[in-house]
Amino acid sequence: MQSDVIIVGGGSAGCVLAARLSEKPGRRVVLIDAGHSGGGMFARMPAGSYKLLNNPRADWMYGTEPDPSAAGRSFTWPAGRLLGGGSAINGLVYTRGARYDYDDWAANGCPGWSFDEIEPYFRRAEHFVGEQPGGLDVLGTNGPQRLSQFPEPLPVTQAFVEACWQAGLPRKPSYCDGDPEGAFHTIGTIADGERWSTARSYLEPAMDRPNLKVMSDSAVERVLMEDGSAVGVVIRRGGETTELLAPHIVLSAGTLMSPTILMRSGIGPAEHLSSLGIPVLADLPGVGSNLQEHNGSGLRRYVSAQTYNSAIRPIRLAGHFANYLFNRRGPLTSISVHAMAWAKSRPDVPSPDLIYSFLPISFGEGVYPGTPHKRHGVTFALNVAKPSSRGEIRLRDADPHSRPLIDHRLLSVEDLDLLVTGLDKLRHILGRPALAPMLQESIDPEFEQARGDELKTMLRAATGTGYHPVGTCRMGSDSGAVVDPSLRVHGLRGLYVADASIMPRITSGNTNGPTIAIAEKAADLIDATLA
Ligand SMILES: Cc1cc2nc3c(=O)[nH]c(=O)nc-3n(C[C@H](O)[C@H](O)[C@H](O)COP(=O)(O)OP(=O)(O)OC[C@H]3O[C@@H](n4cnc5c(N)ncnc54)[C@H](O)[C@@H]3O)c2cc1C
Repeated sequence: MQSDVIIVGGGSAGCVLAARLSEKPGRRVVLIDAGHSGGGMFARMPAGSYKLLNNPRADWMYGTEPDPSAAGRSFTWPAGRLLGGGSAINGLVYTRGARYDYDDWAANGCPGWSFDEIEPYFRRAEHFVGEQPGGLDVLGTNGPQRLSQFPEPLPVTQAFVEACWQAGLPRKPSYCDGDPEGAFHTIGTIADGERWSTARSYLEPAMDRPNLKVMSDSAVERVLMEDGSAVGVVIRRGGETTELLAPHIVLSAGTLMSPTILMRSGIGPAEHLSSLGIPVLADLPGVGSNLQEHNGSGLRRYVSAQTYNSAIRPIRLAGHFANYLFNRRGPLTSISVHAMAWAKSRPDVPSPDLIYSFLPISFGEGVYPGTPHKRHGVTFALNVAKPSSRGEIRLRDADPHSRPLIDHRLLSVEDLDLLVTGLDKLRHILGRPALAPMLQESIDPEFEQARGDELKTMLRAATGTGYHPVGTCRMGSDSGAVVDPSLRVHGLRGLYVADASIMPRITSGNTNGPTIAIAEKAADLIDATLA
């Protein structure tokens, strides 16, 4: 089968690209995704993500190598296995990141990617439903990606936001204007009580186009190259292997799989590929390195106020389910994180480097996310916004069916120090008068009381990820970069990468919104070369 462009991976980025690139009726576009279409009721219900995570039908559940920086632990990294990818199973929090994130990219070999240059692509993507925070006009209102604010905030959420203000964080109506320092109620990829993945917002409206073919349950093994030009892909579908041909191939298989597909195709660090017996077509040492994650920790407290701990008890769940079904209201339409605070560890850092996420629920032990505590509890998550830790993705072996080897090296010494500072600041916020009267005893008293080296040891044993891996096909102009600022793989023709993996440095907040904006810009860049 011959087409004009093949997009590999129909996740947050791939769905955007498929929709945008197929706007020209004469262009034949194929979108290939290894995951499933659909996803059922839980893929539409915002709280349904708790049913999708750790469910092998909806979540790839990648295993990582034991991490010496995290007390030798191995992790399971979730990744969306439905059309929409991460946007189909994620926590629904919408952020754009900070002006600094993009200006830093532009200043370091990525001309065209400053905040002012990518902001129009955010706007082009966004469709904010309702009145914007503070009555401002910060977000777009005509794009495909529905966004809204959760209409039913709990008093304890407001108390958290006010406590942050009392601790000195700025009162800012919107955190999407490039200057996110402050505390706010969260915006979500939710509208009318339902999840809006990119499969729903971008792909569904484009599905009827005769020039767009969508193939799910089809895994791309590798890219076919001839004399330095991409000419097609090898896919595996239902146990059979076939070739699809096109002169333009866009990899949007995400931070874990885009570099994996490149390496399987002979594009990557020559020494590594040769050691596995894979013929080297292009020695690009940066493929798979520069892996970044928002490492994180946090505190949990029991509270005297109402939280969602009671909402999801079986006796109440039936009522909330009916409220969701008939009204699209109530806790099952809720975003995971109800409020956030973006703070600076020191006044002289250029942009907030600590991000607090407030969840009006607390979970105990058990399969992720655990069983909710019987008492009302809240979770204050803390993530390092711009971690210095760097990991890498490598091939396990030459078998195209093997999962990649993920060596994430989560916690550098600097990141550990930032977590310690962030926890100090968090304890200060918890002591502010707006929130303190609602707080009861700690759910993790030993951890909350620990200081110094004892705390650092505990952090190494408990720190988790933010579910935001990026950076393994880094954009840049230097010899270690994988793609150039037009997202073309360096030194090759017709091959592009457009997804979260191209971020040279991780954006400060949650990464779905920035990935969508990257894909919007990629669509213009690739459109110009397809002509
Ligand atoms: C559990 C979880 C919670 C998160 N919470 C939030 C949040 O609240 N807010 C936020 O902003 N971000 C969140 N994120 C992060 C965000 O969703 C991701 O950054 C974003 O989805 C990355 O988009 P992507 O296009 O790079 O990759 P993905 O969306 O992962 O897309 C990759 C696609 O490629 C497909 N694929 C993989 N291998 C192949 C292959 N060989 N052949 C063909 N197709 C293939 C996959 O099936 C998938 O559909 C979360 C992520 C997870 C996993």
